[in-house]
Parts: sequence; structure tokens; C-alpha cells
Amino acid sequence: MAIVGVVRAVSKSTKIGIRYILGTTNVKSPFISYHSSVRLKSSPTTVVSPDATVDTARKSNEETPPERDPLDLTFENTQAAYKSKKTWELVRGLLVLKLSSYPYLVENHEKLLGLAQRILGKRLFQLLMKLTFYGHFVAGKDAQDIKPTIECLGSFGVKSILDYSAEEDLSEEEAKEAEMASCISAADETKSKDPSRMKQFQVYEQFADRRKYNVTARTYFYLSEAQCERNVDTFLKCIDAVAGATKSTGLAAIKMTALGRPQVLIQLSEVIVNTRKYFKEVTGTQKNMIMSNVKPSYIEHKLDDMHVNTHQDEVVKWLQQMDYDKKGLMNIFSWSDLVDMNYVLSELFKVPSIKTGRMEPLIRALTDEEEEMFKNMMRRLHYIAQVAREKDVRVMIDAEQTYFQPAISRITMELMRKYNKEKAIIFNTYQCYLKEAYNNVVLDLELAKRQGIFFGAKLVRGAYMEQERLRAKQGGYEDPINPTYEATSDMYERTLNEIMHQIITRGDRKIAIMVATHNEDTVRFTVNKMKELGIKPDEKLVCFGQLYGMCDQISFPLGQSGYSVYKYVPYGPVQEVLPYLSRRARENSSLLSKLNKERYLLRTEIIRRIKSGQVFHTPKGNYTPV
Ligand SMILES: Cc1cc2nc3c(=O)[nH]c(=O)nc-3n(C[C@H](O)[C@H](O)[C@H](O)COP(=O)(O)OP(=O)(O)OC[C@H]3O[C@@H](n4cnc5c(N)ncnc54)[C@H](O)[C@@H]3O)c2cc1C
Repeated sequence: MAIVGVVRAVSKSTKIGIRYILGTTNVKSPFISYHSSVRLKSSPTTVVSPDATVDTARKSNEETPPERDPLDLTFENTQAAYKSKKTWELVRGLLVLKLSSYPYLVENHEKLLGLAQRILGKRLFQLLMKLTFYGHFVAGKDAQDIKPTIECLGSFGVKSILDYSAEEDLSEEEAKEAEMASCISAADETKSKDPSRMKQFQVYEQFADRRKYNVTARTYFYLSEAQCERNVDTFLKCIDAVAGATKSTGLAAIKMTALGRPQVLIQLSEVIVNTRKYFKEVTGTQKNMIMSNVKPSYIEHKLDDMHVNTHQDEVVKWLQQMDYDKKGLMNIFSWSDLVDMNYVLSELFKVPSIKTGRMEPLIRALTDEEEEMFKNMMRRLHYIAQVAREKDVRVMIDAEQTYFQPAISRITMELMRKYNKEKAIIFNTYQCYLKEAYNNVVLDLELAKRQGIFFGAKLVRGAYMEQERLRAKQGGYEDPINPTYEATSDMYERTLNEIMHQIITRGDRKIAIMVATHNEDTVRFTVNKMKELGIKPDEKLVCFGQLYGMCDQISFPLGQSGYSVYKYVPYGPVQEVLPYLSRRARENSSLLSKLNKERYLLRTEIIRRIKSGQVFHTPKGNYTPV
């Protein structure tokens, strides 16, 4: 069914009418049709020529069979780690990591960079950055510029996840203003101070600038609908570049907060938590809905017991549209209808109140414009998913803060239901620093199994710990984060273990997982578990992910020994990726033991090359990524 929609993208300053033509079969040249219809300024990237990389790889494949090295799980084999690097790149890496180890430089780096720009001027400053931080952490200014890096990574068995990292450089005041305006509904007269509202879903001005508190992930602020369109444009270019550069093995990462007004994500997250409570109140069960074998008829019976008139038309309709199978309920509400834009939010999320017996909304009032903005967000997501499916590129939806995450995860599951019927196109992300991580994964695995779809997941520890903890303390609600680092690591291993066991016991090859971490113990744990369970590296059911410029001693030996491994490859012009570089410097400085090990490895390899006369080592790989 084709969905034809006209989006009235309304922002304070900009009004544009945008016509989408979305259709499950009508996406033959989606990239072009999107651009020509949207007519927005295109982002400053060009697309990697699809055939260049593939041809190079193919040519070298025909000449010599691909190499495979044994994997040294100490991750201390410097030759294996740095085969792909010239010696001056190792020296640059060492310099960058050394600079990141000085707390004074890290704390004052923004001021120092500003000073350097004023003294050196733009061109010399850019040169300085290319010789240091930019050169180490960023692959180039646009998709054309990064082509040699992607080819080089590929020839050493490492695939790429492209991430266009240019960011709006908003001041703290601007960020706060944008966040406060976009997280509170115009229909909310209490302006989020309503005491009946759950504390974690209230909006706190102190935390409005989400970039503060050591957040090491990219942050989007809602500026306008037009800006969201530009973000779609950027994600599509990434997908296109991935498709061209890596053929069917490519991945693109997206953040849902880049695609619409975040207020609805907060409100939907609150609805999800309230729905769980309502379910428990009505049924009296402590089990989660998906595991409870409860059918709509049981809910009807329980409501009768509570003297709710279940013969009212609205209640009859509500019971009929529940999402269930022979094992019982999967959802009280039809989220797929919502994501497919067949419902408006305020109509869908109503339940018969136990107190009044009347149908009452679980969601706070939204204006018509906000309803429309939610639909715009869903259209954008569908469009990205359709283009990705058409181009055989997988899309990873990043996990974000806990006040957005229940909605992000739920919407992602619905996208999986629609797009993961034949293979895993959409991947969800689970943060193991959350107390609920294991439970969330188990429930989603069960849901995916019952729906017969492919389950794709990225497992991370989590990037927003400091902010989450402070916010919970300030708001007076329970800290959602595990109490210690060890508890987070246990949660990671337990969750990963469960997923890998289900890969084996289910045997339908419908589960794919990315172990996204820089932690060597976690990688060792995964590799050993794969061996124990008989999951082969080239089955691509389990893959690994690290950031470009970090932990090469993990990524390259994995790739060179035939494991499926990805680097997140950021790209963008120097000036526009400075916020990204700030985060890398901050993250590095907080990982002192990792930093020390990497510096030791780099030094060892430089000395080894000097001693063995290999200073002019020319990287030449013949490894084919699996
Ligand atoms: C490819 C890739 C994709 C990623 N995508 C996402 C994403 O979508 N969303 C996201 O949130 N993050 C994402 N991250 C970041 C990730 O969540 C971690 O912040 C980062 O990788 C550091 O964790 P680690 O396992 O690599 O290293 P480690 O050093 O082993 O772990 C550090 C992490 O442990 C946890 N931790 C530290 N101290 C404590 C404590 N006292 N109590 C409890 N927990 C603690 C925190 O999560 C911290 O970030 C991604 C990382 C990679 C490599």
C-alpha cells in the first residue's frame, strides 16, 4: 500500500510544504525523489562511488585468496594491530593519546582551540588539526574524501559504519532554550510541573543541555521541522555512501531525536510505563504482559469484576483492537497502527479507568500541530527504513536517555516488525548500564519470535551515565543505572549470553547482534562464548563494533582473523566536527587504563619498526571482510 502524505513542516522561522511519496514498492530511486521533492540545501557530502571499492576488493580477491590470521586474544600483538598504519600515523596516534592524558589540556581544550584558531588563522589551524586530533579520529571531510580510508579498512577485514559528524555548535543557552521549547507540549498548561506526572518524565531545565555531564555521544536538539528534514537528508547520504562503499555488509547509525520533536518521545515513554502499571493493576499479575499468557477476554473479565461496564462501545472496540496471539497479549495498544500513522496519539492511548469506568487517556493532551509533528517523525523513519531496505543497508537506531528510550525502543520494535521480515534491516540498541537491560532484551526477543521477524540488536554499556545519575538524584526518582561498573559488566555478559544461547536454541538464524564495546574482556568473553556454542565468525550472527581511532588492537586482529567487525567512521569538515573531537578527547581522558595500554602498544610497534628497519612500512592488506 502506498502512503501518500503531505507534510506541513512548520517551524518558527520556516514554512515548507514537503511531499513524500512513500510506498513499499515505490522506492526505486528514493534518494533522488526525496531530494528533488524536498528541495533543501544538500549536506556537504558527495557519494562514494559504489563500484570503486568493490572492484578493488574483487580484483585483489581474484589474484590471491583472502588471508586469515589466527586471533591473539591478549590483544597485545602490535604487528597485527597496526599492519594497516604507516609509521607516521602511529606517531600521530601516540601524540594524540599523550595530549589526551593531560587533564589541564582536556579541561581547557575549547579555549585552547579558540586561541589556536585566532593565532594560526583558518588554514594553518585546519592543518594542525589534520596532523593531530582530526587526522586520528575523523576519516575526511566528505564521502569522496573518506573513500581511501574505507578501502584501507576493508582490505584489512574491517567494515565501516559511516557517521556524518558535523554538528550544530549551539551555545549552552541556545541548547537549553531549544530543549525546553521542544520537550513541553503547548497544550500542557502546567508546563511540566504537574505533580501527578512521573518524575523521570518531567523536564528539568538544569539538564536541558544534554551535552553536559560527560555525554560522549552526539546530541541533537530540535530546532525546526526543516532541520529534521536536513537530518533525514544527511542519514540518506550516509546510507547511500554505505551502500556504495560496502555493498551488502553496510551499516548506518541514526538517532531518533534527530528526526522530530522530542516531547512526544517523552510522553510516549510515560505512556509505556503507565500501560505496564495499568496492566498489573487490572490483572493482578506481576509478570510482564508478553510473558503472562493473558488474553483480552481475561482483561474483560477482570474489568467486569471491577464493575467497569465492558459493553460500552468504546470498551468493546478497545478490547478488539488489542495486539495478541495464541500465547496471549503482545500489546494493549496497536503500536503498529500508530507507527503506520493510522491513529492519532490521543485517540489510541485510552483505557477504561478502574475508578470512573469511563475511557480516559493515558497520554497528556497534544495540540494538532504536535500530533502532526509526530506523524512527520514516523514518516521520516519509514522513509529511511525503506531506502535502507532498498539499498540493502542495515540501520542501527542508537539508544539515548532513559526519558526518551522506552519510546525509541518500542517504535524501533515496530519498525523491525515491518522491515525485518526477510532479514535484519533495523537494529535496536540496548544499554547494559540500565537495571532493566536484561529484562528488556528478553521481552523483545520473545516478541520478535512470536512475530516471526528478524531481531537485530546492538549491545552497549551506555553513554549517558553521569547525566542519568544526577537527573535521578535531582528529580527524586530511582537511579536507572546499575550501582557499580561491575554490575554493568555482569549485566552485559548476562544479556549477551542470553542472546547467544537463543541464537543456538532457536536455530532459525533470525537473531543478529553487534557487540559494540572497547572492552577487551567483553570481546574475549564473546569470542570464547562463540567457540563454546559453535557460532562461526563468518556466520555474521555476532559482530563487533569500535570507534575509528580507538582500540585498533581489538578491531584489526578481529577483522584479519575473519570475524565480522565494524568501525564507526565519522566524517565531516574540520570546523564542523570540533564538538565530536571534544567528546573523543573527554572520553579518552576518562579511560586512563585503556589509554595507557594503547600508548604502550603504539610505542612498542614504533620501536619494533625502527629496530627491524620497517619505518617505511607500506600498509597492504588482502583481507576480505566477512
Ligand atoms: C560502535 C559503538 C556504538 C555505540 N552506540 C551507543 C548507543 O547507541 N547508545 C549509547 O548509549 N552508547 C553507545 N555507545 C557508547 C557505549 O555505550 C559506551 O559509552 C562506550 O563504548 C564505553 O563502554 P565500553 O564497553 O566500550 O568500555 P568500558 O570502559 O568497559 O565501560 C565504560 C562504561 O561502563 C559503564 N560504567 C562505568 N562506570 C560505571 C559505574 N560506576 N556504574 C555503572 N556503570 C558504569 C558506563 O556505561 C561507561 O560508559 C557506542 C559505542 C560503540 C563502540
